Amino acid sequence: MNVRNFSIIAHVDHGKSTLADRILERLGAMGERDKRDQTLDTLELERERGITIKSTPIRLQYKRPNGEEYTLNLIDTPGHVDFNYEVSRSLAACEGVLLLVDASQGVEAQTIVNAYLAIDNNLEIVPVVNKIDLPAADPEGAAKELEDVIGIPADGAIFASGKTGIGVDEILEAIVERIPAPLGNPDGPLKALIFDSFYDAYQGVILFVRVLEGTLHAKDQITLFSNGRTFDVDKVGTFSPGLVVGSELTVGSVGWIAAGIKDIHDAQVGDTVTSKDNATTEPFPGFKPAQPVVFSGLYPTNTEDYRRLREALERLKLNDAAFVFEPETSEALGFGFRCGFLGLLHAEIIQERLEREYDLDLIATAPAVVYRLTLTNGEVFETQNPAEFPTKDRIDVMEEPYIKLSVMLPEEYVGPVMQLLQDRRGVMKTMNYLGKRVELLYEVPFAEILYDFHDRLKSISRGYASMDYEQIGYREGDLVKVDIYVNQEMVDALAVIVHESKAYSLGRKIVDKMAEVIPRQMFAVPVQAAIGGKIIARATVKAYRKDVLAKCYGGDISRKKKLLEKQKKGKARMKNIGTVEVPQEAFLAVLSTE
Ligand code: GDP
Ligand code: MG
Repeated sequence: MNVRNFSIIAHVDHGKSTLADRILERLGAMGERDKRDQTLDTLELERERGITIKSTPIRLQYKRPNGEEYTLNLIDTPGHVDFNYEVSRSLAACEGVLLLVDASQGVEAQTIVNAYLAIDNNLEIVPVVNKIDLPAADPEGAAKELEDVIGIPADGAIFASGKTGIGVDEILEAIVERIPAPLGNPDGPLKALIFDSFYDAYQGVILFVRVLEGTLHAKDQITLFSNGRTFDVDKVGTFSPGLVVGSELTVGSVGWIAAGIKDIHDAQVGDTVTSKDNATTEPFPGFKPAQPVVFSGLYPTNTEDYRRLREALERLKLNDAAFVFEPETSEALGFGFRCGFLGLLHAEIIQERLEREYDLDLIATAPAVVYRLTLTNGEVFETQNPAEFPTKDRIDVMEEPYIKLSVMLPEEYVGPVMQLLQDRRGVMKTMNYLGKRVELLYEVPFAEILYDFHDRLKSISRGYASMDYEQIGYREGDLVKVDIYVNQEMVDALAVIVHESKAYSLGRKIVDKMAEVIPRQMFAVPVQAAIGGKIIARATVKAYRKDVLAKCYGGDISRKKKLLEKQKKGKARMKNIGTVEVPQEAFLAVLSTE
């Protein structure tokens, strides 16, 4: 079969999007008119942040120098640990990958993790040492690292530059020669893997699939393996880029299905699509329904925006099976929603979209992980919401989620990084020396890396360390709830759950940060942290002395105006706690770096 299905994987910034664009350009898939940088990253946010959230496949036609014609399906993958499951499903839709390594950086944490995802999916790996045009490039060194660290023979590496186009012809030939053709029986029972989906207002959910066995025709009936639901297919087709309508999808093809599916939860990534009349008995293995692991409260700053916020959340949820929300009421913040995300980046993306696309001003509470509590009455209770954390006497066993964390770094930073990991309650599993670099594998409570870990890691390693992680389940831990009081009033939305050993330092950090960000009032405002009513830290917002404009007397009027405007803007993100105005920053005090 003259088809090759492949993906490009790399550590962030190693040049995946640039190389993909160069390949598209070489194969004439980017018309001069709509030629833009990084065609694959479509959402505006994706472009700005340089990450890919949705996997966008592109079908390309390649004519080899020897005249043979091939169809190449390039499946892009999300480039962030929050979306690792999506990455693994996109890879499962391929027979091979281009594994990029920046010639000036060498192997990084995500290079290793992505390479293992490819190996787990039995994919052919074509190593590409990229950015060889850089003055600091060491292509041989990077290829050698791939061999030493992952066991990929260095002599198979292609040296390339997505920027100048060096090596792109060689890469195209390697895709055809080294990556196997898809196998499977076109007449067998239909088995297709969903690797992505999106919601279209007219056609319903569009499934992105890879056909592994059998053939699907437009007008067939399909059944979803996980829930047995059946749908009538309206249209099928391929990508080129954009959706192109076709008449069938047969074994080996990568394409899309429109079947009037209204609920994105019927289109979960990793599920198997089969045909109602010729159903497969074996689904594609490893299906996991999307499961949010980080939760936070979202409240409109203006209470009148509550309905608009709910509508916006519903719209976003249509397109995102991994995002959940339910109404929540806070004494301090009023009516809002408790929202669940795949990780902090996912949370940030949704908040940013709400603010940008829906023009909402929001207060977000500190993100929290999901704790598992076995109560004294035997009931197992999972919660991520400090507001519903039971009192200690009702809890028998407390457990918190753990991750396996992999960190790559130059050896001179090993000492400080190990110290940091120990501060975060990490337990070392292995330490591998790879020439002058070290890979550390730790088991760490997820909550400990949620906030500022990545920033700290980068700063103590001068930007040289990289990290990646996966969830590994629950471990016991002594947890407590820290309550925060502003002006003697307990503020429910500020409470946090934390490991006992961290409670005092965290309480201190929160009250100090709050005292810093709460604007001065006419009176001194105490801010306190407490566990079970016992105060563990205290700070004071000093009383307000001078008029904010006082220092402008005699100054020019435009400066005065600016100052007033600045004040007004600041007000948009405030909530009144009693008579005290508390800004958004205060609700995220727990996130501030020490
Ligand atoms: P991605 O995160 O892997 O998709 O990386 P990008 O393609 O967005 O590239 C990250 C940065 O590296 C951008 O600033 C690119 O301009 C730059 N870059 C990508 N490829 C090359 C290359 O081959 N040579 C040089 N010098 N810079 C490159
Ligand atoms: Mg990119």
